Amino acid sequence: MLIIGALLIPAFPSSQTVYDLVILNGRVIDPESRTDAVRNLGISNGSIKTITSNTLRGRTVIDARGLVVAPGFIDLHQHGQDEENYRFKAMDGVTTALELEVGTGDVDGWYAQREQKALINYGVSAGHLAARMAAMHEPMKFLPTGEAARRAATDAEIEDMKQSLERGLKRGAVAVGFGIQYTPNASRWEILEMFRVAARYGASCHVHMRNAGMKEPGSSIQALEEVISAAAITGAPLHVAHIHSTGGPATPKLLQMIAEAKSRKLDVTTECYPYIAGMTEIKSAIFDEGWQEVFGIDYKDLQWAATGERLTKETFDRYRKIGGMVAVFSMTEEIVTAAIKSPLTMIASDGILENGKGHPRTAGTYSRILGHYVREQGTLTLMEALTKMTLMPAQRLERRVPSMRNKGRIRVGADADLTIFDPQTVNDRSTFQEPAKYAGGIKFVIVNGIAIVKDGELQSNVHPGRPVRAPVED
Ligand SMILES: [Zn+2]
Repeated sequence: MLIIGALLIPAFPSSQTVYDLVILNGRVIDPESRTDAVRNLGISNGSIKTITSNTLRGRTVIDARGLVVAPGFIDLHQHGQDEENYRFKAMDGVTTALELEVGTGDVDGWYAQREQKALINYGVSAGHLAARMAAMHEPMKFLPTGEAARRAATDAEIEDMKQSLERGLKRGAVAVGFGIQYTPNASRWEILEMFRVAARYGASCHVHMRNAGMKEPGSSIQALEEVISAAAITGAPLHVAHIHSTGGPATPKLLQMIAEAKSRKLDVTTECYPYIAGMTEIKSAIFDEGWQEVFGIDYKDLQWAATGERLTKETFDRYRKIGGMVAVFSMTEEIVTAAIKSPLTMIASDGILENGKGHPRTAGTYSRILGHYVREQGTLTLMEALTKMTLMPAQRLERRVPSMRNKGRIRVGADADLTIFDPQTVNDRSTFQEPAKYAGGIKFVIVNGIAIVKDGELQSNVHPGRPVRAPVED
């Protein structure tokens, strides 16, 4: 039984605080303090004011009996950053969605576009891809497909890219983003130069690595050596994007390498999403000659997002000329499970929906972890899963973005970003055929103290999302 309503109770004793919002009787799980207990929360002015077993009074009351009250989920890898995407993220329990892998070339413009208009918290990195497109005067797109995708840069162009990353970092970009597989002729030196800029600003480098799979030369193992070396040489923190979709069968080896690098005191982290297919632009350099051998797949393992059809040589050639998103079925369930189970991985979606088309991970990543991998498969405990969705992503960023110390936790003083779900029913409903289906079982989502989901229903006309941004230098 859930009750939410405005309780305006007159004549309190003056000593009794009345909070803006109280959440009563929920099973509060906080990965930082390892709390897992029934508690009441009092929230005012967008932050958590008290956590107690005592009864509390509030202007609004949520009865969370039988539900888990968790820190709001933090997605370090969400490309879709508009109203449509934020709705699906909210219904999947995400309170902060950050575009850190591709990023932007215009940090001020990016934040300005979302100010006062966002359902959930948002943030962006300064992107190497955007810097490269600008340096080579290629029209700005999500991923490069022209010169910036294909050729080596001159020294002057590398200098130009460094300056554009530096400008972005001075304007508070959260991190630096890389898609090296989309720019295969970016030299190792070019990448090192970008890491040097990131290091000066304490910014983590969120990298889609140069190579996928096992085939040498040019394996994902070699690609991970490149960026671990870059982190060691420059001192920049490294975050490896979607380790399982890049690693494929090499994933356990990549995870071992990261564990070893960490044991040498390098700051290296990684992430994964709970699906056996990735998705990318068919025109990109990823599908240059030899992709079948790299991924160990064929045309039939590609699914055209717009129609859901599996491809043949003929349709592949046709769509590659037009461009568009394609799902790549390159992983096994064993690879995905190994990645999810590893204590090294955070959960991050790599999501993007456009007019309801895209990958089911946009709408279902977090509910799928909680429903399928925690409840049904027992791959992770609830505490482990929530740690990967809340505390770990907050900690990844807090050196550069001190405000992240108040996210990913349920403690007094933390931002009131909370996700309240039914552990017995939470589940993903989005599929490769129907990617735009809201998750189930996410009952309430609170962003900066404001409910954006109530009793499982998305609220309209609320925009409590705030920018996640590093301190701006003038
Ligand atoms: Zn990627």
